[in-house]
Amino acid sequence: MPKRKANEMSTKALNEFTDQQLNDLKETIDEILWKRKRFVKWVECDTKEAVKHKYAFKGHGYWVGVVGYFRVITKDGKLNEEQEEWLDDYITRCCCYYYGQPCAYLQHGEDGECECRLGAEYSDFGLKEIK
Ligand SMILES: [Zn+2]
Repeated sequence: MPKRKANEMSTKALNEFTDQQLNDLKETIDEILWKRKRFVKWVECDTKEAVKHKYAFKGHGYWVGVVGYFRVITKDGKLNEEQEEWLDDYITRCCCYYYGQPCAYLQHGEDGECECRLGAEYSDFGLKEIK
């Protein structure tokens, strides 16, 4: 009952917004929802520490000197099947490094060059697994 009342109130309030304000709000909501989907976080450390973790990597090319690992940051500390697949395919992409998840188009199964914002800037981005 109180929930329904809240919905009616927010609908009424939102109707007062201009189209521009609603579009801005939509963009902000989309961004928050996207960020919530992050499932890894890059942790920079030395090689000795990195190799203790499952997803240990070091930079090559322009990125030599970068060492660390990807920490799983899901609530239960586990990856679902989809996330495992994404990591297998895209863990060395800069979107995982910077944003904790592959670009949306990669997640939708379209392969190709990484087109995330910083990916373009750091086109020679490169990580390889530490064995
Ligand atoms: Zn990307």
